[in-house]
Amino acid sequence: MRIGVMGGTFDPPHDGHLALARAAAAQLGLDRVMLVPAAQPPHKPGGATMPAAQRIAMVRAAVEGDPVLEASSDEVDRPGPSYTADTLERIAAEHPGADLWFILGADQLEGFPGWSRPERIVELARLAVASRPGAGDPAMDFLAGAVAAGRVDVVDMPEVPISSTDVRARIAAGEDVSHLVPAPVAALLHSDAAS
Ligand code: ATP
Ligand code: MG
Repeated sequence: MRIGVMGGTFDPPHDGHLALARAAAAQLGLDRVMLVPAAQPPHKPGGATMPAAQRIAMVRAAVEGDPVLEASSDEVDRPGPSYTADTLERIAAEHPGADLWFILGADQLEGFPGWSRPERIVELARLAVASRPGAGDPAMDFLAGAVAAGRVDVVDMPEVPISSTDVRARIAAGEDVSHLVPAPVAALLHSDAAS
């Protein structure tokens, strides 16, 4: 069993998240990719804008019916910040013998050495890294080698110029975001805005 794990805030989930998860699954032959929203993102001191219950509901809606992608409430079910190393340890214990990949965008690489127990993360999982607008320069290969030599797979995908920050700004400005997020997520965002 080959399992991908993708952490993030998913505030809200958007088409870039799904493109990354699907490209990693296709290129690495993953049987499953778990999208794991953070309860309280450790790298975002201000926390997420939308409550965890709403973010996991949107991630569930985004992957509904997909044969490979699934939502995991592993982190939102626990109070306080969750660290990727701990999450991967739990997933590894639940799936003995599985090969794990932690999937991330290149914007996360620079800060990766400062995460909790990064060496444990790359012991438990290989990293699957995709370029991201603004972070997809040639420094990626260098950074990838520096943080986790020999444990990185580069995911080749067209850059998707979408971020949750931009989606939130558009929602705040009253703009339509249905071209940036999966349809079931747009429906949830729309019903939240209306309520
Ligand atoms: P925010 O703007 O709030 O930081 P985000 O769009 O970066 O949101 P996150 O939930 O922070 O979304 O990201 C989760 C993971 O998905 C990270 O590893 C991030 O690099 C990756 N990711 C998000 N959007 C893209 C994208 N458009 N292309 C490639 N990777 C992405
Ligand atoms: Mg981000």
